Amino acid sequence: MVLVSQWMIVSLSSFSLLYLISINKTVFKICFPILVFLCSILAYFRFAIGISLTPNLLQSAFDNDLKTSLDLLNLPLIVFVLVNIIMVIILIKIRKCIHPFYPKIHLTIAGILLFFTAILNTRITAPVQHRIPFSIAYSVKNYLENKKVIQSNRPDISKGTTTEIDTLTVVYVQGESLRADHLHVNGYTRQTTPLLEQDSIISFSNIYNPYTTTDQSVPYILTDADSLHPDYANSHRSFINYFNHCDYDSYWIANQEPATAFIYFTNEADHTIHINNGKTVYNFEPYSWLDTQMDSTFDVALNGRASKKLIILHAIGSHWWYKAHYTPDKEVFRPVIESRNVPSSSTEQLINTYDNTILETDFFLDGLIQKLKNKKAVLIYLSDHGEALGENGHWLHGTDATPIHHPACLVWMSDSYKKEFPTYYDILNANKNKYFNSAFLFHSILDAAKIKTRIFAPQLIIFRPH
Ligand SMILES: [Zn+2]
Repeated sequence: MVLVSQWMIVSLSSFSLLYLISINKTVFKICFPILVFLCSILAYFRFAIGISLTPNLLQSAFDNDLKTSLDLLNLPLIVFVLVNIIMVIILIKIRKCIHPFYPKIHLTIAGILLFFTAILNTRITAPVQHRIPFSIAYSVKNYLENKKVIQSNRPDISKGTTTEIDTLTVVYVQGESLRADHLHVNGYTRQTTPLLEQDSIISFSNIYNPYTTTDQSVPYILTDADSLHPDYANSHRSFINYFNHCDYDSYWIANQEPATAFIYFTNEADHTIHINNGKTVYNFEPYSWLDTQMDSTFDVALNGRASKKLIILHAIGSHWWYKAHYTPDKEVFRPVIESRNVPSSSTEQLINTYDNTILETDFFLDGLIQKLKNKKAVLIYLSDHGEALGENGHWLHGTDATPIHHPACLVWMSDSYKKEFPTYYDILNANKNKYFNSAFLFHSILDAAKIKTRIFAPQLIIFRPH
């Protein structure tokens, strides 16, 4: 039913666009070939290599030099575009001249149709924005919005920040859609964290996050926003600003498209690297979009020359479509989902597939830990929110279901880190089942690096006794 209504709205929006440009013959002659030209290029990349047009992809296209862009040209693409253009020319030649009796009426009908199916932003029309040709307009619009956000002037309030540490690697993994109660380390009956349990990871099982979407949650977590000052998320810089001030070389490695809501922070880092550019929530290729695809970039960051490093990895984790986010060997819990649509799968299939993504996160985080073992390093993982798995009819996230407010949170420290901060490990163990608001992250990650700022909220620091 959902798929049918989505298909109808997408078809209707495409129809109204064609209807609109075909009312006037000259407009049609100019606009239709341009539209087909752009659409054929996008369609080729979408179906040949699974890449969709996104604001970030536009940014990369502008950043690339001409040679890199020309590398994307190949014979099948040229043939595909040429065939489409030839068909358009023939169509324009044979098309009978239409002189509608009341062009203004047609214009009004087409305009109203287009407005309600593609321009008016509702839950029903949302999929249209990701579909060709509308993705062109929406990507350009979001790209321009992102640019404005990046250039906006959030005040630098890191002045006076100090640290006595001269060698340290701090890794922050911004997790995605991982609920705390599906981790075996937190008491879940299935073994979903076999590797992390061998790494003596400390799991905080009672984190409360007031927000249930990535866009709202990530700015809240990264800045000094808290329940009393949630607005700081939209006007303050993140903890990256303070690390930069203390001479940390900072990296943001992203495995998901930066949204306008948090693109500002990705640009606070000294180095911003995007993996899997052009992959969107409409990627339905199994086992294709993995967090381990960030590994080689993580290695480059880790082996950089700076003695103090802050490495942030923005994971895709357990985001829907679950089956894209793990490798076949992690398909331990079966049967798994086959459909792209939540209502077409059984509860059992959905939960199995979701739990398989946790095995992938277990593998991914363990891989990072193995590389950090011989360094003075601390790793903090916090999911942006949890995920509903059928509670009161709720699925995925973005609603107010209880499990969405309880994200997974993990902390790991190397032996030499424990030696430098001898009390931290025991304090964390004593705190791990206590209740913390996700606003803890900002204050705690600064404390993990012994960075002293003017803002000090000991009640929100997990490395302090409570
Ligand atoms: Zn999210």
